[in-house]
Amino acid sequence: MKSPIVALKGVQKYYGDYHALRDISLEIAEGEFFSLLGPSGCGKTTLLRAIAGFESVSEGTLHLDGRDVRGVPPNRRPTNMVFQSYAIFPHLSVAENVGFGLRRRGDLNATAKRALVEDALDMVGLDGYGGRAAHALSGGQRQRVALARALILKPRVLLLDEPLSALDKKLRETMQAELRRLQRHVGITFVLVTHDQEEALIMSDRIAVMFEGRIAQVAGPQALYRRPADRRVAEFIGMMSFLPATASGTRVEVAGLGTAEVAPDQAPGGLADGAAEVGIRPELLTLVQGGESRPHTAPGTVAEVHYYGDMTYYEVAFDGVDRPVTISMKNLPGRPVLERGQAAIVGWDPRGWVVFGQS
Ligand code: ATP
Repeated sequence: MKSPIVALKGVQKYYGDYHALRDISLEIAEGEFFSLLGPSGCGKTTLLRAIAGFESVSEGTLHLDGRDVRGVPPNRRPTNMVFQSYAIFPHLSVAENVGFGLRRRGDLNATAKRALVEDALDMVGLDGYGGRAAHALSGGQRQRVALARALILKPRVLLLDEPLSALDKKLRETMQAELRRLQRHVGITFVLVTHDQEEALIMSDRIAVMFEGRIAQVAGPQALYRRPADRRVAEFIGMMSFLPATASGTRVEVAGLGTAEVAPDQAPGGLADGAAEVGIRPELLTLVQGGESRPHTAPGTVAEVHYYGDMTYYEVAFDGVDRPVTISMKNLPGRPVLERGQAAIVGWDPRGWVVFGQS
């Protein structure tokens, strides 16, 4: 097997007494789009900066492309970083900004440099913008300039620190798709820091979820969404309702729903007899309408309705259960939107359950 382009082992980072990174071990393969995801303050930026060489590591090892990079300064690492605040020079032209990183490349003449700048601008969809003043660009265009400037140096690993967070929602979505396309096109390993779980799911091959300086889970988007390793990850990624349950072997009784068998991989922390909690995603429950027949149903009451146009999210309460569940339904022709207070029949399928130990 090829050695990973980024490999950390037992990495600890202290800021004085503050333990910012706790026993981080992680391998990122060449060509991966990898995201570090977690709430504010979990250490993801510290980890990215440690890979870049802007932060030292207190303990543990860090290898880039098989080489121990302890003490190696950022400009001698095979990495380059794109920051949230684009850090472009407003008084320079777009082409001068992009070509900035080439200024010390004595081996390239002006024509060769110009060609590289044009290639880089082309790559990020800014061909023809070279002569423009950087200060006259929109936020999205500035971010593209920053990307082109980082890519022109042909790093093995591009490190991106919340590069899209300053953009409005629509533009951010466009840039997410573009970044993904760009990464596939150039084939460079991208490591993205984000606190936006949707962004991480959309863009990444794999994601590391971090809390309080620790990695809680590393997995692909689907595995992370369907089989979160613990309740905290489950709550951070997407929406999930939790119902009290009782486990006995592989049989699980869920309050409000009923009893069914689960497979071992539905219990990420293992199955133990006794009190448990079952997590269910909104799309894995359904509201049974129009005489549809289902193997498992339970009666409930619509407690709240959130209408989103394409979808409606319902909160449905069960008799004697103090927490409602969230159920998402597509708004299709012939499917009326239910109202608050209406009786509802909830269809469920035990394959959609994730069983957590009682925390
Ligand atoms: P955010 O999304 O808010 O940027 P983050 O997950 O990237 O958060 P970090 O910036 O890595 O978090 O910070 C992790 C913790 O380390 C925070 O509690 C922060 O206050 C602390 N920290 C970061 N840099 C320093 C520093 N230079 N000195 C002391 N503490 C620091």
